[in-house]
Amino acid sequence: MSLMRLAYASEATFQAKPVEKGVEPHVARILMTSRKNNARDQLVGGLYYGDNRFFQYLEGDESAVRETYGRILKDERHRNVITLIEEPISERTFSNWSMKYVPLSKDVRQFLDAEGLQSFDPANFTADQCEKMIALIRNSSQDQKLVNYDDDRATGAKPEVMSGGLKAGIVVAGICVIGALLFAGSML
Ligand code: FAD
Repeated sequence: MSLMRLAYASEATFQAKPVEKGVEPHVARILMTSRKNNARDQLVGGLYYGDNRFFQYLEGDESAVRETYGRILKDERHRNVITLIEEPISERTFSNWSMKYVPLSKDVRQFLDAEGLQSFDPANFTADQCEKMIALIRNSSQDQKLVNYDDDRATGAKPEVMSGGLKAGIVVAGICVIGALLFAGSML
């Protein structure tokens, strides 16, 4: 089985909506599908979205990477897709994530500042800047919260509105009220 890595830059075609739970809603949908498919296909990597642009890095089995990229290229949620890296690798460099997500964060801002870049425009990144972006994705731990959020959405799980203690308290209070009513009734 031969491994490869791939990175591309593209422009979002959608109008960005207000961020919900740390992620733009269109991007959240893309991430949900990506995480499901990439886990199945044993692809790892990450996605950056900022200034209405995407930077994505993928690595895994060559046929799986190419098949996924074929679907991504046809997706109308972005355009002007530019392949930045497409080459074989001898081993995986990411561990257990199907798809990391990192919004334009402090570390990316610092990277842009250090490189003298005014905005996030990965289509014009040099080879060295691409490697720095990949290292940022690899080292980021920011998406833990988002994974849980997506998992909740994927399983349809609803957030708990009442704690276990509160539920128990309500049951006890109910029993006390019924007991008091029965006692009052027996006194009449
Ligand atoms: P489907 O069952 O066809 O669709 C899954 C969900 O996505 C559906 O709920 C559908 O509503 C929604 N959807 C699909 N296409 C569109 C569309 N054009 N407009 C609006 N909603 C749509 N896929 C991956 O598998 N791995 C990736 O790493 C990955 N990265 C992506 C990065 C970017 C920037 C973008 C734009 C897309 C990416 N995708 C990725 C999505 C990919 O383009 C395909 O939509 C997806 O792979 C289709 O998978 P499916 O057949 O399992 O999903």
